[in-house]
Amino acid sequence: MTQERTTCCIVGGGPAGMMLGLLLARAGVRVTVLEKHRDFLRDFRGDTVHPSTLRLLDELGLGARFEKLPARRLDEMRIRIGATTVTMADFGRMPGRIRHKYIAMVPQWDFLNLLAEAAADEPTFTLRRSTAVTGLLTDSAGRVTGVRSTDAQGAPGELSADLVVACDGRGSVAAAAAGLRQRNFPVPMDVWQIRVPAPGPDAAHSGRVFGHFGSGQVAVTMDRGDYYQTSYLIEKGTDAAHRRHDIRELRDRLAQLFGWGPESTDAIRSWDDVKMLDVTMGRLPRWYTDGLLCIGDAAHTMSPVGGVGVNLAVQDAVAAARIIAGPLRRGRVTEAELARVQKRRELPMAVTQKSQLAEHDMLIGPALDGTLDHRPLPLPLRALRRSRLLQGVAAYVGGMGVRPEHAPEFARRTVS
Ligand SMILES: Cc1cc2nc3c(=O)[nH]c(=O)nc-3n(C[C@H](O)[C@H](O)[C@H](O)COP(=O)(O)OP(=O)(O)OC[C@H]3O[C@@H](n4cnc5c(N)ncnc54)[C@H](O)[C@@H]3O)c2cc1C
Repeated sequence: MTQERTTCCIVGGGPAGMMLGLLLARAGVRVTVLEKHRDFLRDFRGDTVHPSTLRLLDELGLGARFEKLPARRLDEMRIRIGATTVTMADFGRMPGRIRHKYIAMVPQWDFLNLLAEAAADEPTFTLRRSTAVTGLLTDSAGRVTGVRSTDAQGAPGELSADLVVACDGRGSVAAAAAGLRQRNFPVPMDVWQIRVPAPGPDAAHSGRVFGHFGSGQVAVTMDRGDYYQTSYLIEKGTDAAHRRHDIRELRDRLAQLFGWGPESTDAIRSWDDVKMLDVTMGRLPRWYTDGLLCIGDAAHTMSPVGGVGVNLAVQDAVAAARIIAGPLRRGRVTEAELARVQKRRELPMAVTQKSQLAEHDMLIGPALDGTLDHRPLPLPLRALRRSRLLQGVAAYVGGMGVRPEHAPEFARRTVS
């Protein structure tokens, strides 16, 4: 068995883990990220990079490198309910001096590779891939002192650390091993993820997120350049029952909803082309225990509504780095300091989850059970329909979030 030591062990190299690893390494902290996969290549992970994260990348000196990645800019979010179209957010109208007034759609593996490359420039950073954390090490007082893991060959290892940060997403192994359990909210839907070839350059949904709500259906499509990434929502727990139907039914529904022809919908050849994502939503009452901190989805699993989970995870990492970098350099992080991270990030997380739950109740649940068609347009949507100013404010709230974080001084760089 290998036995090693680091100052901060980060479990999971997703958006939260890679951002935290980069920032702590730039603070001169010895940091090791353990990622169970061999690479970042996974489909249908959150690919939305919001204006708050774009600003952060500029502050980290990574803006120019990010702009070289294959990205599609989305300027608007629109939905249609019956015959009514509502612009839910217009990023071009965001108030204030914001440089990036759009959402960048970038394959998540490119975003994570960029962070990994920048972190690799720091001598105190280590990324260990194909290493799955299986449990925690604790001392006689119950303080978490490191992790147990296995590598690609199944060989066991132990990594001792002054602090372990769980960034291993929903169903976090590290949080569970510490006895930290999320309280879950009921959610009305699961999501099918489907790719269809883009219908053409002048397609109606070009440069947009576009959603249809009503007649028992919810579907959202995002322009990704040469293809449309499409989420089709189904009532929670009904995936298996739907898959007994002919795939042509789904093709016909998408054709009807988005006006796509067979050149697009024929790309859905079988149910194998329809990926099921089990939606959960919850939060830990306490994000830490002595020696362990949870951030990102490990602390709060987000609904896909608004596509904000990646950005929230990144913002958690920035706040955590600012608070714990100094104590880590001094050799010990107290529970009081870990509590400060939760205190700083709990409000943005709770506000976001509340707005996601409101959208589940107001739109998604009623659309899926067919009652939305018989209701008057909800008041917030009527207001958004009338006011372009509100469309810009909504874009700001979604795009920058509550309490957006700035890069700490120690992590800023001027050159890309
Ligand atoms: C259907 C759906 C669609 C979504 N769409 C979007 C979207 O468009 N935009 C958006 O912003 N958010 C979206 N989200 C939410 C988003 O995916 C998450 O909020 C975000 O990825 C959280 O980042 P994270 O770093 O905390 O965790 P994750 O992204 O889950 O990363 C966790 C990492 O830890 C690794 N890991 C897990 N277990 C271990 C272990 N035992 N040992 C070592 N490594 C481990 C994993 O391989 C992974 O790399 C969506 C969610 C769902 C369910």
